[in-house]
Amino acid sequence: MSKNNNRIKIPLPRKTPKKKDDDSSLFRHLVNAFLIFFLLVGVYGMVKENKAVKNISLTELVSEIQKGEIKEVEISGEKLTAKKNDETVLVSKKEMGSSFSETLKNYGVEPAKISAVNVKITTDTGAAFWLSLLPIFLPIIFVILIIWWLSRQAKGGGMQAFSFGQSKAKMIDPNDPNQKVTFDDVAGNKEAKIELGEIVDFLKNPKKFLDIGAKIPKGVLLFGHPGTGKTLLARAVAGEAKVAFFHLSGSEFVEMFVGVGASRVRDLFDMAKKNAPSIIFIDEIDAIGRVRGVGLGGGNDEREQTLNQILVEMDGFEPTASVIVMAATNRQDVLDPALLRPGRFDRRVTLDLPDRKDREAILMVHTKKKPLAANTDIKVLAERTPGFSGADLESLMNEAAILAARHERKEILQEDLLASIEKVMLGPERKSHLMTAKEKELTAYHEAGHALVASVLPHADPVHKISIISRGRAGGYTLKLPLEDKKLGSKNEFIDDLAVSLGGYVAEEMILGTVTTGPSNDLQVSSALAREMVTRYGMSDVFGPIAFEKGKGKTMFGEEVDGDISPALAKEIDDEVRRLMKNAYETTKKVLTEKRVVLDAIAKKLIEVENIEQKEYEEILTAHNIPLKK
Ligand code: ADP
Ligand code: MG
Ligand code: ZN
Repeated sequence: MSKNNNRIKIPLPRKTPKKKDDDSSLFRHLVNAFLIFFLLVGVYGMVKENKAVKNISLTELVSEIQKGEIKEVEISGEKLTAKKNDETVLVSKKEMGSSFSETLKNYGVEPAKISAVNVKITTDTGAAFWLSLLPIFLPIIFVILIIWWLSRQAKGGGMQAFSFGQSKAKMIDPNDPNQKVTFDDVAGNKEAKIELGEIVDFLKNPKKFLDIGAKIPKGVLLFGHPGTGKTLLARAVAGEAKVAFFHLSGSEFVEMFVGVGASRVRDLFDMAKKNAPSIIFIDEIDAIGRVRGVGLGGGNDEREQTLNQILVEMDGFEPTASVIVMAATNRQDVLDPALLRPGRFDRRVTLDLPDRKDREAILMVHTKKKPLAANTDIKVLAERTPGFSGADLESLMNEAAILAARHERKEILQEDLLASIEKVMLGPERKSHLMTAKEKELTAYHEAGHALVASVLPHADPVHKISIISRGRAGGYTLKLPLEDKKLGSKNEFIDDLAVSLGGYVAEEMILGTVTTGPSNDLQVSSALAREMVTRYGMSDVFGPIAFEKGKGKTMFGEEVDGDISPALAKEIDDEVRRLMKNAYETTKKVLTEKRVVLDAIAKKLIEVENIEQKEYEEILTAHNIPLKK
């Protein structure tokens, strides 16, 4: 690992040493106070006992008084200290509740004898008083100790029971050159950098935007696969804008004690406002930002409160406050819609897995401080690592360096690099799927099939981007966007859409001679669309303008119930859906067979670069005389 990388490693924000000190010293004070208290009590008691020469019973003391032997009695609480005429000291106890003179009277001592005794009453101070309080305080101290001990257990040994509430955010000072990250440290991700460049502009020069009446955005959500550089980019924004950066992960908001998450949010926002302009970065926000109110009987109240507090804080920003909240997640699908509302995380930046060119650039960033042998070719490495994230590539370079060092070499050879690919692939952290050359070809043809059909058929939406870098379950994707926003779908469009969604299926069939499980999702989506065309939109030639869902409704519990469709009718509907799909299949097959040369060209380009943007794609189309959609 190079110096460069070490510099941008993000320190874990938990349990900073300072906090630990605070907590344990509090505990130490408690123990010390406890010990000192007992020591004092003990010493006092011993001093007292030393003077007491003789312990006697109350009856004995009474008989001494009756004999006129006692000249003085000191009463302190229940304790009686009597002095005899010969100066010997006797110690006894009086009855509880009744006064000493009463006691003597009860024992039948003559009043004259009583008045002969000099009675001194000292107030209950000192150890005796404290000792009498002991029964009250002991349980309290005990309870405090138990709570402390429990919380220690709950935190896995981190003594944090007395620091809850304080935000645990780690602040990164913009002026610390050792921690500074800039956009130069982030390779690739060009679009994300352009979008975040705007945020940097806001932070650097808010006045420019406020003067023209623009509101400064409050929240930016970074979304992307693990290891695509979300955390890195967030820090780079702070580094570029030279503002303070508060870093905290979603799971740190939510800990054992109820109410802690919310108060941490408050502390965090207060801190950030004090240091404005600044960036608050909530990593892995899905830990708190999940859809609220799911499940009966509670769910996770603590998480909801934390989330609510974040929303409250974000709404409470003055429009001029230059505090920007950034958050990262790889699960945008589970986020609460309230987070995504305008005025909250309304800016969304997607980080893709890097394509070949970007992988090369990322590898170059991580070779900076590593001596490479002359025979190394980073390009080859980039070609062989489709599906690797930035973090994977960093780890790859690191493995190569370790390998070289193990062989006592001073330089990293190409073979070290190639061997490391496997190492990273097999490593425990890499879960995403790595494409073999054959799979890559198949995926390329699949996506090329979708794209080409979309470009040839007149009513399909134009293609904006094609990618074969796997995202989630899908092997690749083709991004089609309508020319204009539209609410209504027409029959012609739907028919072409069916053909487009079969583009992948047909293309696979053409080059493989068979089909894989790859297009299963395409088939589901298109079949569902075909069924809706028949049963809801009246777009079937056989049935004409009719909707078959007249009985369809919802029960009290929100369950959908089927309408009154007879088995015979159901079969007819099925046949009609099948016919629509079959027609679509034939259209697709015809297009792809006729334009096989173009299909090959697109697929070849995809295998080479993995992502094709609109401009490059249209160049291919033009080269093969396919008219562009305008
Ligand atoms: P995420 O937060 O998206 O899971 P990180 O930002 O923590 O990913 O990235 C992990 C590491 O991977 C970074 O520290 C960096 O070294 C490396 N990395 C990821 N993306 C890039 C990139 N685009 N350029 C350079 N390094 C990257
Ligand atoms: Mg991260
Ligand atoms: Zn597909």
